[in-house]
Amino acid sequence: MDKLQLLNDLAAEHGTPLIVVDHEALRRNYQTFRQLLPRVQIYYAVKANPDPAILETFYHLGASFDVASLSEFHLVHKNIEKLPDADRQQFIWGKIIYANPIKAIATLKELDRYKPLVTYDNPEEVQKVRQHAPHAGLVLRVKVPNTGAVVELSSKFGAPPGEAVRLIRLAEKSGLAVEGISFHVGSQNTNYANYINALHLAEGIFREARLHGFERLKILDIGGGFPAPYDPSVRPFAELATMLNAEFERLFPQNVDLAAEPGRYLVATAATLIASVIGKTKRGEKPSYYLDDGVYQTFSGIIFDRCKYRINTFKKGHAQISAVYGPTCDSLDTISLSEELPELNIGDLVYAENIGAYSYATATHFNGFSPAKIVHINR
Ligand SMILES: *Cc1c(COP(=O)(O)O)cnc(C)c1O
Repeated sequence: MDKLQLLNDLAAEHGTPLIVVDHEALRRNYQTFRQLLPRVQIYYAVKANPDPAILETFYHLGASFDVASLSEFHLVHKNIEKLPDADRQQFIWGKIIYANPIKAIATLKELDRYKPLVTYDNPEEVQKVRQHAPHAGLVLRVKVPNTGAVVELSSKFGAPPGEAVRLIRLAEKSGLAVEGISFHVGSQNTNYANYINALHLAEGIFREARLHGFERLKILDIGGGFPAPYDPSVRPFAELATMLNAEFERLFPQNVDLAAEPGRYLVATAATLIASVIGKTKRGEKPSYYLDDGVYQTFSGIIFDRCKYRINTFKKGHAQISAVYGPTCDSLDTISLSEELPELNIGDLVYAENIGAYSYATATHFNGFSPAKIVHINR
């Protein structure tokens, strides 16, 4: 069936606002990533979209998971209740990384019995982990340049590379095991040189650590940031993959386990939002439309993720620059002040593609407007 017809039918059946998650697209994104970076195990970054149906699809494809809170941990951990006891410990190490360098003491206490793999980036955290989660394995998060990434992620986390070996020594002296290094180049990172620089920094740390006798390091976790193809200006992922594979071969022997934490890349293109026009007026000369979904719901990425979404119509017609607003009383709830749209009427449907990452994950109930309903197709 043609896509527009399908969206129309789903909106008629379920009402709007409606998020359509296509699991065929999830599988395609996952397989593309696997095929283009064959040495890399995928730890899906749950924060991009924690929808349990999405986690399940990735789980069945063999994915591991990057979690950053207790609730995300349990969401993923649920899957192992079906596994035999003997496989559980292996599952925790192979399947989950707790990739938040800062963990509350209560969180560490709860995590300890799972013997989790957790990241850290400072001396205080080493003491906390030693006291409250002594069975955890550690991965050192280092700071790397985020130049040109849409969402910067290096100001809050990451040890300066120059302090890496000192932090590894501190952890090992406290009786903890440092298993590897991780970094994050920033989200929607279209500056591929960031990855290359980060790999060189990481290789330097591996070398220096070995020189000081820390032989255990075997995981290199290259984080997330892989860009979604929101518009044609984003260079193809295949180009990045070619560069990465070449550097992996040059810098890291086969006994280094490579991991990545893609979030956006796997889910962004898998969801489409359908909304209805609920109001219409002219502000100045500009046609202005009000939708039943906005910045406080599925379009929350406009604020939190600095993402832009094109508004598409089902009808064709002479396009005019128009404004599009969400339903709440807040003027922050502005989806776009310059969409090219044909004249729309109350009840007309519009849709926004590539809205699977950092979208309904950050939706609120502000002003009494509930988040959109979700349907899953091709599960
Ligand atoms: C947010 C985050 C990710 C996912 O980033 P994407 O840009 O969505 O791929 C991965 N790892 C960590 C530690 C993160 O904070």
